[in-house]
Amino acid sequence: MISIIGAGPSGSYLAYLLAKKGEKVRLFEEHKVIGKPVQCTGIITSSVEDLIKIKKDILVNKFYLVRVYSPDGEFVDVKLKGDNIFDRAKFDQYLAEMAVDKGAEICLGEKYLDFKNNEIITNKRKSKTDFLVGADGPLSAVAKTNGLFINRKFVTGLQARIKAKVSDDHYEVYLGKGYFGWSVPEDSNVTRLGFIANFNPKSLFESYLKKMNGAIVEYQSGIIPVYDNKVITSKERAFLGKKPLGKKNVFLTGDAATFVKATTYGGILQGMLASEELCKAILEDENYDKLWRKRIGKDLWLHLKLRNKLDKMDDEKYNELIKLVKKEKIRKILNEYDRDFVSKMVISLILKEPRFLKFVL
Ligand SMILES: Cc1cc2nc3c(=O)[nH]c(=O)nc-3n(C[C@H](O)[C@H](O)[C@H](O)COP(=O)(O)OP(=O)(O)OC[C@H]3O[C@@H](n4cnc5c(N)ncnc54)[C@H](O)[C@@H]3O)c2cc1C
Repeated sequence: MISIIGAGPSGSYLAYLLAKKGEKVRLFEEHKVIGKPVQCTGIITSSVEDLIKIKKDILVNKFYLVRVYSPDGEFVDVKLKGDNIFDRAKFDQYLAEMAVDKGAEICLGEKYLDFKNNEIITNKRKSKTDFLVGADGPLSAVAKTNGLFINRKFVTGLQARIKAKVSDDHYEVYLGKGYFGWSVPEDSNVTRLGFIANFNPKSLFESYLKKMNGAIVEYQSGIIPVYDNKVITSKERAFLGKKPLGKKNVFLTGDAATFVKATTYGGILQGMLASEELCKAILEDENYDKLWRKRIGKDLWLHLKLRNKLDKMDDEKYNELIKLVKKEKIRKILNEYDRDFVSKMVISLILKEPRFLKFVL
């Protein structure tokens, strides 16, 4: 039996992959309804289409252009391969249905509490398991109760659905000293407006809300883990170098393992990619830590390094950066690469425009 805690994208996708291979899977979700409350913008690059078939009714909008603003109001348009904007609740439900279709059992309204002697303790029962997977989000109880929740940092994403007249053929990103913001239209009347900031994000949010003459429909804020490349994602690593205290049967994936891009704070795709590696590790008794590092580790690390640099930039530097990006040859590179896999893009940018080194180094 493989027990997965959390029916978010990382947990349900893993349940689907394992059940498809004939494994006995039980997915525990503390909420009675999957996908609610929504705490996400729901942007996923077209790379998700390499993993699953996208059903039309979960798609809210699709964008081929993002407009990136610097603090002085200057902007640059960057082409996209087709970013999907999902109805996040329906997306989570769709993945869970895929898992059930393949034979996974879902236990709704059942909250994981602890794990002792290969027994999971929930608010409803105790049950034996061979493997335990924490796909239970940023504050992962699985990580906490298994000694895997070490030195974590978080940021808060303040987001709300806003009623406002907006152009719905592109989405917008706002950059400036210590903040990152976005407005992602569902249609021409409703947009998802959000900010993450090192200072008070509420003041930024309110000033943009006023500028847009918008009215709040619903808050969708939440916390986001900052990726840590020293993160411990399996019991095996927790006791590396010391006498192992447990069997190698506890693993983390998704936000529970801090797999979020530190530049744009997107984590859905990274969680799903890690779940593919975890599926392989469980089925073929391979080293999960090695597998996820190979698949997503380098890019997550680079996103973190870029974030550390961005956090040190003042408004003037951001203005300079947008001016540089406006150059045709730079935009061509940005249009070409998938931002989920930023390492190739950064190398190409530096080769074509050495002034980028100033921002990277
Ligand atoms: C405001 C905001 C905007 C964002 N926008 C984007 C975006 O546009 N694109 C993107 O890629 N990412 C975005 N993210 C990040 C994205 O939401 C996460 O990376 C993603 O949800 C991670 O999926 P997950 O399955 O790992 O965890 P989660 O989606 O957090 O799922 C965890 C699940 O575990 C359940 N759970 C928790 N504890 C227990 C327990 N003890 N017992 C049982 N069940 C439990 C929860 O109820 C939940 O269903 C955003 C985040 C925020 C806060």
